[in-house]
Amino acid sequence: MSAPRLLIDLEKLHHNALTLVQRLALHGISVTGVTKAALGAPEIGNVLLQAGVTALAGSRIENLEVMKRAGVPGQMTLIRSPMLSQVDRVVRHADVSFNTELDVISALSSAAQQAGRMHGVILMVELGDLREGIMPRDLKETVRQARRFPNIGIKGIGTNLACRSGVSPDANNMAELSILADSIESSLGIEIDIVSGGNSANLQWALSGADTGRINNLRLGESILLGREPLQRQPIEGLHTDAITLVAEVIESKLKPSLPWGETAQTAFGEKLPTIDRGNIWQTILAIGHQDTDPCGLLPPEGIKILGASSDHLIVDSSSYHERLSVGSEVTF
Ligand SMILES: *Cc1c(COP(=O)(O)O)cnc(C)c1O
Repeated sequence: MSAPRLLIDLEKLHHNALTLVQRLALHGISVTGVTKAALGAPEIGNVLLQAGVTALAGSRIENLEVMKRAGVPGQMTLIRSPMLSQVDRVVRHADVSFNTELDVISALSSAAQQAGRMHGVILMVELGDLREGIMPRDLKETVRQARRFPNIGIKGIGTNLACRSGVSPDANNMAELSILADSIESSLGIEIDIVSGGNSANLQWALSGADTGRINNLRLGESILLGREPLQRQPIEGLHTDAITLVAEVIESKLKPSLPWGETAQTAFGEKLPTIDRGNIWQTILAIGHQDTDPCGLLPPEGIKILGASSDHLIVDSSSYHERLSVGSEVTF
């Protein structure tokens, strides 16, 4: 088999998604399945739908198009504000998009009109993480203006926390979103169907037994795919954390000193060099690197320690591994 390769256990992903769908349903919250980390892999989209997610989502239209082309049914949501240069594709392949700019919504409306369809919009609200979002004081006026575009349907409001600044979802910011939904409904006389409270970082808050107010949707990627929550990066009870594994092949394995020798300057990626001399170690090189993945995010098997990586080489210490790794053997992360 070719290497490096990702092994994706669809049954485990189904279990993770189903478990979260069921737990959140008890709190009146639906799940939008986010497949962006898998570039919209259709097999994953289908499994998430079977597990009961109410929509699929990605932040790039290309990834939604991949699922559409493969015949994945279900509502497609673009969860990053559309690029003006892509509005034609967005209205054709996404049913709903997340928006913060009236210029974009205007262009979406024109594109939808030309395509003879309606496009759904969820307006994102800034609640402190300082990534995307309309400032709360401007939300009502933006909704009022967005409603004027003929081919746009306002589906709801949403927010996104814990991404850029790590601001945690809590009773306060979630209550603020609920209050905004209520006040827009009463002052503009419209119905806000979807109140999308956030991403995997919202799970602790949502399942804590706190009052979830108007929040009736979460968008989940990492928690389904990796079985862990992103605030402390702890495993979520009852979920598989190994639904996705990465296999890489050994291309060199030698007993070498733990410290480099000679004059040293910058490394390929500017990392710090080891300073503790641990004598000779079994240094193994795997044919994978920064070009394939973020090596720092890999969880090696017991007895293997990641020492460093360049674009195409992952260097590990396999001295404590249960076997001597020979060239051609594989390691699973
Ligand atoms: C990526 C993303 C998500 C999913 O986040 P996870 O932490 O993977 O659950 C949800 N909403 C938005 C807007 C995103 O960009």
